[in-house]
Amino acid sequence: MNRRQFLTTTAAGIAGLSRASRGSAGQAAHYDLVIRGGRVIDPSIRLDTIADVAVSSGRIAGVERNLSADATEVLDARGKLVVPGLIDIHTHCGRSADGAGLVLQDGVTGWIDAGSQGADHIADVVAIARKAPQQCRVLINIGRAGILGEGDTMDVSRADVAAAKNAIANNRDVIVGVKARLSRDVAGQNDYEVLRRAQAVASSFGLQVMIHMGQTISPIAKLVDLLKRGDVVTHMFAPPPNSIIDDSGHMVPEILAARRRGVWFDVGNGQTGHMRWDTIEAIMKTGFWPDTFSTDWTGNSRTTGVIDLPNCMSKLLRYGMSVPEAVARVTWNPSRIFQVFSDRGTLNIGAPADVTVLELRDGNFEFLDNFKNTITGHQRFFPSATILGGKRIPRSG
Ligand SMILES: [Zn+2]
Repeated sequence: MNRRQFLTTTAAGIAGLSRASRGSAGQAAHYDLVIRGGRVIDPSIRLDTIADVAVSSGRIAGVERNLSADATEVLDARGKLVVPGLIDIHTHCGRSADGAGLVLQDGVTGWIDAGSQGADHIADVVAIARKAPQQCRVLINIGRAGILGEGDTMDVSRADVAAAKNAIANNRDVIVGVKARLSRDVAGQNDYEVLRRAQAVASSFGLQVMIHMGQTISPIAKLVDLLKRGDVVTHMFAPPPNSIIDDSGHMVPEILAARRRGVWFDVGNGQTGHMRWDTIEAIMKTGFWPDTFSTDWTGNSRTTGVIDLPNCMSKLLRYGMSVPEAVARVTWNPSRIFQVFSDRGTLNIGAPADVTVLELRDGNFEFLDNFKNTITGHQRFFPSATILGGKRIPRSG
């Protein structure tokens, strides 16, 4: 079922849930799995209610209050949130063999590796993506040697259009876009030219570009003008220089224009230089909220203030975002950005049964930006269970 069919069946889907879940003779139906009694939040159909979610043959089969059915397996979700499987559009899961399995435990049923490798070693990331249990895809770094300590494209000859095109042509099924990392310590004076080349590569295949913004030499206004509909700006909360907001608290007009023409804005939590609470507060106040949360996940995220995607989702509750609004930014919104997720990010009937169960705990929780500043929030999401393609993923540790 494609996105349009989902949408047209939405209204009928909710009204007809009880019919869909009965057996033909009127007895209770049998399902593979029923997730009982959670607070089901599905922003794709504006649903936020206590209900049961039924799964059959790897697909969502019903969402209903007090669903009468017997099931091979029952998951008690009372007191918990039941949401579509989380999608993280900026990770580096392709850098390690165990990344995909680790984030699956965090509730992440879909991910994008955002530029871990360039043309020279793209085969490594592609191999990991092909083996991963979840839906996932790869953005190729325009720097042919991938992420380098001395800066991916400080030597502009590394932004090699021909090499990148060749790598994409050989891996069309896995590579869905081009990543251009543009900070001063990554691309130096070459930021604009590097992005121009990334766009030349992407456009020739009809693919998207994701830029890593923040602390660039060129003004963000100049860089963002090179982005087309469907492209993604990650690290949108990067503090000055060259933030998306100016010193007097006004959004850069070219940023507003980019959103109007369909450019997406992503958080990309990460570890260094990408988010600072005062910049976040100023941007949130203008109403320019992120389209997506992402972790910028690496093998040491557990100890750097990223922790996991549910933790990153929690950080903006302090700045006025509601729980369903936070859920939308890791489910429905990312499913609209990359085609590979177009039938995910929803609990609509017939959708692949990727479901995440979260706990929303009240208390005092400390959240870190990338500058060792902390804020205290009063709610935090914790991963509780992951269902991938209808199968419950065993939790380790
Ligand atoms: Zn990254």
